[in-house]
Amino acid sequence: LEHLKSEDKEVFEAVSKEFKRQQEHLEMIASENYTSYAVMEAQGSVLTNKYAEGLPHKRYYGGCEYVDIVEDLAIERVKKIFGAEHANVQPHSGSQANQAVYFSQLKAGDTIMGMSLAHGGHLTHGAKVNLSGIVFNSVQYGVNPETELIDYDEVYKLAKEHKPKMIVAGASAYSRIIDWAKFKEIADEVGALFMVDMAHYAGIIAGGAYPSPVPYADFVTSTTHKTLRGPRGGFILSKAEYGKDIDKWVFPRLQGGPLMHVIAAKAVAFKQALTDEFKKYAEQTVKNAKVLAEELKAEGLRIVSGGTDSHIVLVDLRPLNVKGNQAEEALGKANITVNKNAIPFDPEKPMVTSGIRLGTAALTTRGMKENDMRRIAKNIVKVLKNIDNEKVINEVKEDVLSLCSTYPLYPEWTKYYLS
Ligand code: PLP
Repeated sequence: LEHLKSEDKEVFEAVSKEFKRQQEHLEMIASENYTSYAVMEAQGSVLTNKYAEGLPHKRYYGGCEYVDIVEDLAIERVKKIFGAEHANVQPHSGSQANQAVYFSQLKAGDTIMGMSLAHGGHLTHGAKVNLSGIVFNSVQYGVNPETELIDYDEVYKLAKEHKPKMIVAGASAYSRIIDWAKFKEIADEVGALFMVDMAHYAGIIAGGAYPSPVPYADFVTSTTHKTLRGPRGGFILSKAEYGKDIDKWVFPRLQGGPLMHVIAAKAVAFKQALTDEFKKYAEQTVKNAKVLAEELKAEGLRIVSGGTDSHIVLVDLRPLNVKGNQAEEALGKANITVNKNAIPFDPEKPMVTSGIRLGTAALTTRGMKENDMRRIAKNIVKVLKNIDNEKVINEVKEDVLSLCSTYPLYPEWTKYYLS
């Protein structure tokens, strides 16, 4: 990084501080992960210089012979991971992947049905503040107040009543297995298309630790940077019959030039996701989340839905009389990074909340296992029970720093970032 350091000290210093923050904090934001050196090398490569509008071997620019190799590899690999008929790896983000699917099939005013943000769905699944809820007539389903599991009876009832053109499944704060087959059955019965946004679960699906929606859905969208452990970005899988439509909506309708350096990094992450090592990673990620949930429960917290089947643990803080925003801040002081998160039927405002969402994807990448989860759960509860006690928070921070040093992050790059 010597060029960055000498040419732009301010940016270098911020990057360097972020590097240290990542090394010294427990990253428990469920949507984050640590990519490999190889993924970052690909993303930081000369491919960032290249325009390549179009698709491999059908470009609007010259000089694309090498970036074509890279995009072909990314497409081939992601199709292999998920057994998909068609893939587009160009979406710059998960949100853009979702938009491309919506606009390829729907017109303004058409009805879509997705999971409510307040119950764990994503903004792009029809929330009123998002384009998906502004352009389309959005009907939202949620979880059952007793079980806190998706209420499939409600989904069925709403689908019958509103006859959506598309049903969307997938979530950002739902830790349990989603019954893709059930959704498909409902979609078929009302003549709706079925889209799954598997952004959160893509990595654990790739590793066989969570059921795949691909056999059921007409369209599957995803991000590449969560459990899948790639660069920030998105992709779309679809049945072959929709392939041309999807490609056309990604480019030229929604996006311009694809980010070829990011596509190279996606290709690398996809190669890694096809390994046995990644399978073990996915299994360990889910095992870690289950242990984390059990231990937090044993320490007096309530876990939404009673547990988890994924990398996500949604925690109800009310038994300890703590709000989500307070927890996020206090845990941050102890070097434990989490986000406040609404729990279903949350009486608090979105900037306050009664919950936090935890994830084990990043910690598992660092090599942490069940015993570490137990230690972390105890530390989390210790902070939550002492949110105004600096001394206790500092004690926890010391323990977190020692845990972080047991699982060093990017040790080969420390000399570049922190010299
Ligand atoms: N879909 C789901 C389920 C997500 O959780 C997210 C990110 O939080 C997205 C889509 C959006 O992805 P991006 O931030 O890349 O637009």
